[in-house]
Formats: sequence, C-alpha cells, structure tokens
Amino acid sequence: MLNGQIIKGIGGFYYVDTDNGLYECRARGIFRKQKVTPLVGDRVSISVVDEETKKGVVEDIKKRDTELVRPPIANVDKVLIVFAIKNPKPNLSLLDRFIVLAEKENLEIVVVLTKVDLDDDDKLNELKTIYELSGYKVIPVSNETKLNVDKIKDELRDNVVVFAGPSGVGKSSLLNEIDKNFKLQTGEVSDKIKRGKHTTRHAELLKLECGGMVADTPGFSSLTLDDIGETELKGYFIEFDEFDDCKFGSRCIHENEPSCAVKEAVENGEISKQRYKSYIQLLNEMRQGKRRY
Ligand code: GDP
Ligand code: ZN
Repeated sequence: MLNGQIIKGIGGFYYVDTDNGLYECRARGIFRKQKVTPLVGDRVSISVVDEETKKGVVEDIKKRDTELVRPPIANVDKVLIVFAIKNPKPNLSLLDRFIVLAEKENLEIVVVLTKVDLDDDDKLNELKTIYELSGYKVIPVSNETKLNVDKIKDELRDNVVVFAGPSGVGKSSLLNEIDKNFKLQTGEVSDKIKRGKHTTRHAELLKLECGGMVADTPGFSSLTLDDIGETELKGYFIEFDEFDDCKFGSRCIHENEPSCAVKEAVENGEISKQRYKSYIQLLNEMRQGKRRY
C-alpha cells in the first residue's frame, strides 16, 4: 500500500500523488456502497495494480480536516484572500464576506493586497491597518516590482492553498510569479485561474515547485451566506471575541443592545469602524433574505 493525495479526478479516475510518482486509480466499489465519493485533496492509501503503467486502486480515505464546496477540495489549509489596493477599487464589504466564508470553513486566512506599486494615496496603509487590527496577517504584493512574492511562497510551502478574490486583482499574475512552470493567462476579463478552459466543472490541485499545492480554481465563487445564522455571524468577525462583556452576554449581537462592549470598542477605535459596518451590512442582508451577492 502507498499513501498519497488525490490531486485530480476525472470520469471516475483519481490521480494520486505519492512519493513514488503519480498513479491513475479507480476507487474501490465499497465507497459507492458507503456513498463516499473521493474528493480532490483526499489523503488516501492505494494499492498498486500495475507499476509499469502506474495504475492503482484507492483503498482507504483518511478523515478530512476540511471540505470545501467551491472548489470541491478536501483538506485545504489556507486561503489567500487577494484584493488590489486599486484597479479594481477594493470593495471591503466583499473582502469581509470572503473572510466570513473562510472563517466558517475554519481555514487559515492571509489577506494579500496586490498592485501596491500603484499606491499613490496611502491606500495600502489604510487597508493594512484595518486587517491587522482585526487580527489577520496582511501581505502587500506587487507583481510588477515582485515585492513579497517570496513571502507568498513561504505561505504556500507545505500547504494546500486556495486563492480567493475578485477577478482582475492579479491572482493569475501572482501564481505565474510564484511558479515559472505556470503560464496562466492574465488580463482584464474573467477569472483565468481557470473558468472557461474546462467545460466540465472540476477542481484540480497544482503542485508548486516551492512545495505545497494550490487549487486551480478560485475559492468561494458563490458568495452566498445562506447557511449562516444571524447569531452565528458575529463568531466569524474574530476581533469581536475578546470584547465579551456585553450587558446581554452571549445573546448580544452587538447591534442595538445597550452597554455593548463591541460597540464601545468600535467607538474607541479598538475595532475597525469599517469592519463593524460590514458586519451590520451582512446582518441586514441576511434579514432581508437578499442573500446572494
Ligand atoms: P486575476 O483576474 O485576479 O487573475 O488577475 P490577473 O492576474 O489576470 O491581472 C489582472 C490585470 O492586472 C493584468 O492586466 C495584470 O497585468 C495586472 N496586474 C496584476 N498584478 C499587478 C500588480 O501587482 N501591479 C500592477 N500594476 N498590475 C498588476
Ligand atoms: Zn455586544
């Protein structure tokens, strides 16, 4: 038996990356009976059927740490949420929505701010301050000057990572910088880390020369908050956590309640006003049932 990880699945075949190379595998029939479908990202044991042609059978699937729906990948560790400081103008409520979705999936989050070579009005500083105050790691990047491309490589090394963010912010350009074997198309229109190239919807993990793997599809392409409850949302704004002495205790949703520690922290500047604004906005959106972005 060999241990490995599924990096691609097509038409009932699973491509399993092992220390001994890549194997094309079928899944054991028992999985179908158990209604278990192997997922890209699954850590598996395989038996080798033919070493010459690198054929095998997936015998066992290890318990998944995480399971993303979009893209459908198991065991993603980390999401790099990529926004440009300008061109396109960053939509912070959208950024906060990405963060909520990633927090819900329990992923490690890094905020990557691109196009810092275009910064002429201290936008980088403004955004960096907001997200660092909220407790996130922020990495400013330029694909033009190559600023901090190495730091992004450090984030990817030995991890399974998904990039998320709107189109046009430089995700494909960044991946091309990170791994010279990639030749992703870049430009103004649409998401080129992949859509359009594949007609069928499937996800694939790309192995990076610096170690680690990256999903070939951007994360959270649907930004619906449907599954999140009104009282659950505050849990995904991690900076609210330490301000837990609201008069109404854990029932406080930090909106109109008197003696709310979170609202006080916003007033004092201990919590970003912008983040709090996003929180209230998402809360209202959920109530109105206007849940799709
Ligand atoms: P994606 O849609 O997020 O994959 O974005 P792309 O990588 O396709 O980049 C969109 C556009 O922004 C392209 O024209 C890139 O050349 C440009 N671009 C990407 N990164 C940077 C950067 O760091 N600085 C500047 N000035 N332009 C960039
Ligand atoms: Zn409160």
